[in-house]
Amino acid sequence: MEKQPRSSAELGKLANVVVDPNIPIRFYFRSADQLFKQARVYKLEHDWERAYILHMKYTTLCLSELPKHPTYKHAEYKANLKVMKKNCLEAIESMEQMKPVLDDAYNAHVKKIKEAQELEKATSIANQTTQWQSQQRSIDVSHPSKEWSLQDALKGVIGVGYGEGAKTFTTGYHQKADYPSLSLHNQSDGFVYQPKLGHQQTFIQPPQLPPKISQQPSLPLKIPIDRSRDIKAPELPPKIKLDNNEAVHRSGVTTDASTERGEPLRKLLLPKGLQSKFLSIADNNTRKKIETCGILAGTLKHNILKITTLIIPKQTGTPDTCTTENEEDLFDIQDKHDLLTFGWIHTHPTQSCFLSSVDLHTHCSYQLMLPEAIAIVCAPSHNPNFGIFRLTDPPGLDVISNCKKTPAFHPHPDLPIYTGADEGGHVSVSDYDFIVLDVRDKK
Ligand SMILES: [Zn+2]
Ligand SMILES: [Zn+2]
Repeated sequence: MEKQPRSSAELGKLANVVVDPNIPIRFYFRSADQLFKQARVYKLEHDWERAYILHMKYTTLCLSELPKHPTYKHAEYKANLKVMKKNCLEAIESMEQMKPVLDDAYNAHVKKIKEAQELEKATSIANQTTQWQSQQRSIDVSHPSKEWSLQDALKGVIGVGYGEGAKTFTTGYHQKADYPSLSLHNQSDGFVYQPKLGHQQTFIQPPQLPPKISQQPSLPLKIPIDRSRDIKAPELPPKIKLDNNEAVHRSGVTTDASTERGEPLRKLLLPKGLQSKFLSIADNNTRKKIETCGILAGTLKHNILKITTLIIPKQTGTPDTCTTENEEDLFDIQDKHDLLTFGWIHTHPTQSCFLSSVDLHTHCSYQLMLPEAIAIVCAPSHNPNFGIFRLTDPPGLDVISNCKKTPAFHPHPDLPIYTGADEGGHVSVSDYDFIVLDVRDKK
């Protein structure tokens, strides 16, 4: 089902960003960068709504929230701030372009809805009239031999006194007419016509004017019916269909997957061969019982996140941990290839397939940056030997992001902190080629 367009004001409300002063500011620079890259993609695809939200998030983060961070003014971040300011100018300019387009679409939609409602109202009245008149017709048919009489025809017509009829109008109106078995509220005179069961048929429709006397004295009682046929009941409005222009405002593929909070998750494509490729790269370490990690990077297109690249960063591993080194280099690589970060993959050479407390904290950073971010665990010596996970939200993301416990391995509350992301989730495994960037030997 098409969704109704949203105004720029409504979209702006979806652009909430909160900065935690305890999280290193470098995380937010990465976050901002991810936001901006995605915003640009949506704008290029004319997906104005998503583009607007992300641009708004970006400017809110960079201009309102990040300056509150305790290390914002540290000299080492000068270059980051410079990039941010430049991007903010672009973001603001984009938002200024998109705002009138979005609001026009929104206003047009509101107008269309109003028109449809009015039409529906008119249709309902007309249908009521038609129903009533068709019942009249059936009465007419059931008494075909009844002669039309001018006198009868004028009976009960408001403002027309005609012999006996005038009297009947005031005294016996209801008894005279056999109205359909529903109560009709006449909009013109405000009168409620109640059905009566007396079968004294007079086929007169009080709300209708009689035929002109001089014109058709011999007409049978078809006149009211014929007139009713002239009242064209407007056809029911077709289902409101957004025009192409509006549909373009929020295009792309959507999935049914969502967080526990109900926030929709975009589809994340994972290449089928990634696990075995990663295991072969990690094999050396695995045999030494040392963990290996990789970064899942990729592109955004038509609202689908696609893992296109497996980056093996410089790292140090132990039997139960793995730490990325020279993260800045890693970010440079991703920038150079215009890649977004979609999560990470690591081995458990000896342990089973789960997320340790250290893993949970590592993954939290990824998922705070991108709700669809995943953690893949390969546990070659166990069954299952492969798991695709994300933190639940809630409670997982909040629990972990607010957890300040030490040491590195520590217990967490007994809650469903993480969950599988593939079966019934937003991750879809598909057979396609991907690139491996092993930068471990490079600086
Ligand atoms: Zn682990
Ligand atoms: Zn913790």
